[in-house]
Amino acid sequence: MGEVSREIQPMTPCIFCNIVNGSAPSSKVYEDEICLAFMDIQPVNPGHILVVPKVHFRDLADLPAQIGAHIFQIAQRIALCMPNTDVKNEGIDFFLAHGEAAGQEVFHVHLHVIPRYKSDGFGFTFGLNYKNLPERHELDAIAVQIKQQLEK
Ligand code: AMP
Ligand code: ZN
Repeated sequence: MGEVSREIQPMTPCIFCNIVNGSAPSSKVYEDEICLAFMDIQPVNPGHILVVPKVHFRDLADLPAQIGAHIFQIAQRIALCMPNTDVKNEGIDFFLAHGEAAGQEVFHVHLHVIPRYKSDGFGFTFGLNYKNLPERHELDAIAVQIKQQLEK
């Protein structure tokens, strides 16, 4: 069945699967055969939307690339129509958490589309080392490792 056979159903019911199958409520924004977009129940700012694949994929490691590409396309369309709505937005953030350490709380892949405006109070918190720029050789050493993995 190709890439989609990588789908693994969760042991416990997944809230986003329940939204997709209609057994949990949602405020839908967009739907097609591959994905669903709906309003986040605890928005960072008004207009915060989640775009999810209809099939349950836990995280980026499970997500077929073409489904990820489709989700991004839909998120891009949603972002670009935001200025034509009443939603306050001077910009948009996309955010996708892969793994608990990255902030993933719902283990069904989802791309956040977050309307932003200056002084909205949202932002990343940087670590103490953030202001200490790495040496070029340190950047190069990491780049080499990642390049080698990509070439495999
Ligand atoms: P993350 O931390 O990236 O896993 O984000 C999970 C997001 O799902 C949070 O922004 C939650 O507010 C949102 N969320 C959780 N349950 C629901 C729900 N039933 N309907 C809509 N959004 C939800
Ligand atoms: Zn799910």
